[in-house]
Amino acid sequence: MSKSQREIYLAKLDREENLEEEEITLLLSCEDEEIVAAIFALADRKRREYVGDAVHLRGLIEFSNICRKNCLYCGLRRDNRNLKRYRMSVEEIYAVGVEIARLGVKTVVLQSGEDPWYDARTIAHLIRRLKKLDLAVTLSIGEREREEYALWREAGADRYLLKQETFDRELFRRLHPDDDYDRRLACQSILRELGYQVGSGNMVGLPGQSLESLARDIKNFQKWDFDMIGIGPFIPHPDTPLGSYRMEREKQFLLTLKTLAITRILTRTALLPATTALGTLVPGGREKALQCGGNVLMPNLTPSCYREHYTIYPGKICLTEEWGTCLPCMKGMVERLGRTVATDYGHRKKIGFPDGRPSGKDVTRQTFPDAGHSP
Ligand code: SAH
Ligand code: SF4
Repeated sequence: MSKSQREIYLAKLDREENLEEEEITLLLSCEDEEIVAAIFALADRKRREYVGDAVHLRGLIEFSNICRKNCLYCGLRRDNRNLKRYRMSVEEIYAVGVEIARLGVKTVVLQSGEDPWYDARTIAHLIRRLKKLDLAVTLSIGEREREEYALWREAGADRYLLKQETFDRELFRRLHPDDDYDRRLACQSILRELGYQVGSGNMVGLPGQSLESLARDIKNFQKWDFDMIGIGPFIPHPDTPLGSYRMEREKQFLLTLKTLAITRILTRTALLPATTALGTLVPGGREKALQCGGNVLMPNLTPSCYREHYTIYPGKICLTEEWGTCLPCMKGMVERLGRTVATDYGHRKKIGFPDGRPSGKDVTRQTFPDAGHSP
């Protein structure tokens, strides 16, 4: 594929025409510095045009590292015996929520392994209390029944993160011994029906993942119109079956950024985090992600004594920081980039496309209410 062909695809993106999967694959394969820089610059421009300069902060509480699942890539998988397991009590979680609200962060993200020890009513009660603190509430606690998702939505939960991890069925099957591709996708649809803002996403650099798979991921992000899309590099964990897998770091970094940038250009208004995993892979990775389409950061506000045990992948940055120091550090990062820290709840502001495609024409603004949801 010639340079000029790639320039043609880039120009198509600039004109807000859609790209086919094969065309995205070819852009992802591009290593020409000039074209890669042009993709990043276009993503940065579209980000400013569609979602502005504000960066949304989400206060993350990793409240349990106990998991019933055995995903091949993850350090929290149930077969990993080299991990000190913990569960935070509901009172402990709530107390962190109070501090997050006091610090002026408008969203709390509750994340854990799949840990049914926290039953649906307990979580619902916690959500109700957190909502009284004037916080948007995001859940990231895995696959549950429709009734449970419904109960939490009624309790006031605003968003749910459930990454598909890959939209390549065969790869999904190999990575998830106790999960089903369609069931996971169905959970995302149920969440959408219930009125959540729904987050999906992928990992970049998984063993056996082709550029075609990544292009398919991007097409699916577009097709399902996810509100949040978490795109991060896969980082092998030594205590997992994929522990010895290696990919060249700079190559993986660039591929993750290209995936992020093309996703921004094609989805326009999605909330795209600069992931901690990218900052772990390469120093300054999150800053670069914010310049390639990213508009969300997730300061880790898990109490320090637990944080070191939430080792989804090794070498995670900011593990030993004192509680709360993540936040000024991130605000500094945002300001150094000439951006601003958002002060609203940071719900997705959608633009409706009549045919679901980013044609750039016939756009009608549909704005989410910027206050907490009333169903
Ligand atoms: N149990 C929940 C939430 C916790 S896992 C769930 O699975 O949805 C949160 C995210 O961590 C996953 O979605 C996955 O994308 C990421 N993750 C897991 N293992 C990883 C690894 N080795 N490298 C990078 N990210 C990883
Ligand atoms: Fe559990 Fe989530 Fe890790 Fe899978 S990715 S093992 S569900 S914590």
